[in-house]
Amino acid sequence: MRVLVTGGAGFIGSALVRRLIGGSDHTVLVFDKLTYAGSLSSLAAVANSGRYRFIQADICDARAVEEAFKAFRPQVVVHLAAESHVDRSIDGPAAFIQTNLVGTFTLLDQALHYWRGLPDAEKAGFRFHHVSTDEVFGSLGDEGAFSESTPYDPRSPYSASKAGSDHLVRAWGHTYGLPVLITNCSNNYGPFHFPEKLIPLTIIRALSGQTLPVYGDGANVRDWLFVEDHARALQAVFEQATPGGTYAIGGGAERTNVEVVRVICANLDRARPRGDGRSYAEQIAYVADRPGHDRRYAIDASKMQAELGWRPAVTFEAGIEMTVSWYLENGDWWQAILDRDDATARRGAVHD
Ligand code: NAD
Repeated sequence: MRVLVTGGAGFIGSALVRRLIGGSDHTVLVFDKLTYAGSLSSLAAVANSGRYRFIQADICDARAVEEAFKAFRPQVVVHLAAESHVDRSIDGPAAFIQTNLVGTFTLLDQALHYWRGLPDAEKAGFRFHHVSTDEVFGSLGDEGAFSESTPYDPRSPYSASKAGSDHLVRAWGHTYGLPVLITNCSNNYGPFHFPEKLIPLTIIRALSGQTLPVYGDGANVRDWLFVEDHARALQAVFEQATPGGTYAIGGGAERTNVEVVRVICANLDRARPRGDGRSYAEQIAYVADRPGHDRRYAIDASKMQAELGWRPAVTFEAGIEMTVSWYLENGDWWQAILDRDDATARRGAVHD
């Protein structure tokens, strides 16, 4: 199939594209603006494939989107392009409204126009797959898990913009009959993760002898999923799921933030011991909490397993070990990012 991947130069998008080029016969067009978060170096492994193409453009640019549809004639759109960092959404929500809401609308509008012009057989096979987050569901107490039927209750500018984009996608399905799919996934981690996010930030700051910031009391819980497991889930959904479907995707690996930081420190202590023989855990520093910080996320992914036979293959312990090794071996990738962006700085703290 011809698969148009928006945001394919980002963390999850590039994992999906590497998987589709390396492990399927699909042809892929990456449509990506290359914001601060996008890196063509994450796609170096597929750059020479005859089944891979790239366009640098903004999903808010209707003409660029229209031209991409006309030239590539996608059978599937997997929409991952977004502003994705909660802390940045606190400091500067405008970009989140623009890309996540206006951009998703623009893409839907153009997809509908293109889809209406397809012959009936191709119309039936077309899919618009929106990749979203579990953060749209709000925050859990100590018990329970989010599922496909959990009501929306977003609380940050990021999650509100993603919730809005989910609603738009669903509306285009109900109102116009566009064959849409939505997946809501828990926190991802793994290779090529932008250094502003907790796991790569902790690894990189640890190695450079800096403090390892832990927000609030460190007890906020996230359900961690190895990014390659997510890419496999996305492929299963757009290849097999019935249009109109929603799927909750998660790792079944709940950890508090401070547990995550401690596991990273233990891995680094083994793989790259500190010169003074002490543990990296001594660099942990509790800092002011993120305003409105959701307490706990967890996913019930039983529909993914029952309908599509998907479940995570990589345990949290194995995934973290692979991730720490990857960052140790790929300093060139993240150093190039640090040279152009102050990625590991604190963002989204309260301003009085
Ligand atoms: P990312 O920030 O690493 O990558 C986003 C990509 O989108 C970048 O390549 C960027 O250049 C591109 N982009 C941004 N604005 C654009 C625009 N206006 N036009 C075209 N391209 C643009 O994000 P990620 O972590 O890979 O997340 C991908 C998607 O998955 C997002 O929609 C996010 O909401 C969702 N998601 C992420 C997680 C997670 O843990 N990272 C979990 C669940 C869902």
